[in-house]
Amino acid sequence: MKPELTLHQRTLTLTRFPVRKNETLQAWDAADEYLINHCHTMALDPQRPILILNDNFGALSCWFANQAPVTTVTDSFITQQAIINNLSVNNLPTVTIIDCLADLPTEPQLVLIKQPKNNRLLSWQLQQLCQVLPQDCVVITAGKVKDIHSSTLKLFEKYLGTTKTSLAVKKARLIFTTVNKLLTAPMPQPTSWAVPEHNLTITNYANVFSSDSLDIGGRFLLEFIPSKSQYNDIIDLGCGNGVIGIKAARLNPHANVTCVDESFMAVASCRENAQLNLLTTEKFNVIASNCLDNIDNQSADLVLCNPPFHQNNTITDHIAWQMFCDAQRVLRQHGELIIIGNRQLKYHEKLSRIFAKVDTIGSNDKFVVLRAIK
Ligand code: SAM
Repeated sequence: MKPELTLHQRTLTLTRFPVRKNETLQAWDAADEYLINHCHTMALDPQRPILILNDNFGALSCWFANQAPVTTVTDSFITQQAIINNLSVNNLPTVTIIDCLADLPTEPQLVLIKQPKNNRLLSWQLQQLCQVLPQDCVVITAGKVKDIHSSTLKLFEKYLGTTKTSLAVKKARLIFTTVNKLLTAPMPQPTSWAVPEHNLTITNYANVFSSDSLDIGGRFLLEFIPSKSQYNDIIDLGCGNGVIGIKAARLNPHANVTCVDESFMAVASCRENAQLNLLTTEKFNVIASNCLDNIDNQSADLVLCNPPFHQNNTITDHIAWQMFCDAQRVLRQHGELIIIGNRQLKYHEKLSRIFAKVDTIGSNDKFVVLRAIK
């Protein structure tokens, strides 16, 4: 895969994060190109901020970095790292990178949005934008034609203002919205629900996995969290709202528990849920990271994981595999990895390649819970 994006006699070298040998996937898409092409003839004010939301691997942040002060908003640690790397490789000025809960800059001239994967985050971001955008700000969103439905456009109309769409180019479309300050409303509260059988109350910011109710996989995994006096260090890998790590902390109050997620909204929710559900958070740590990057080898006794997956989606399969390899690396000798997976994903086979022993410790119609020992 060639990492060069060339448009309007300018070339950027763009790679995904983490950088993989023999990468087959590009770091930008047709929606990025459509946005860049559309903005090419615009007269930009070099002093007034440009706001970029949900850039994937930094194509937009890099393209606009030398045209005006850029603030880029992302919920993803992986995106954040990709932007930093790509700006550096292309010798571009730094941009301000903030998460989706941070205050937005005032008086931007242009807002470029990559349509996020879920409408909950989109609604959150549109409401946030309506609070701060001046009436003259140009707002353009780009997405795949197949992801832009009339229900998506209704969200723009409801929360931000009058909305029109462009023609499709290479299966991408642009959405143009005129800001209507009369639509400004107070920001919504995070969703909150109880898990009475485990005596937990869980709150979730908009982009957290399964934010409307407890995930059925997570619910099943909760039944298999062990309690052992020899656990000193426990990790909840891909913690989401933290339900698994919090239950593990309750069952093992003597252990240090580290929760890791690449979503900043997940990290914020997990921190708040620990405060809400634990007597003390002294031994409870939450970090944003890509899998277990920066966690020491042989530093944990138990890793719990409900990995991200999607049927027929090779990218998420790759993340689950990276999670298993990282867990193997950070576990001490005889340490345990406990995971839940859909039956058809054949995680047993994968884990057997890198762990000494793999047992099925639970199963139902849909899921298996596996324990792999190092
Ligand atoms: N543990 C929670 C539960 O059981 O409800 C959430 C599990 S969800 C299936 C997987 C989680 O992995 C998501 O919260 C997602 O943000 C996180 N994730 C995806 N890729 C990741 C990565 N590279 N590093 C860390 N976390 C990641």
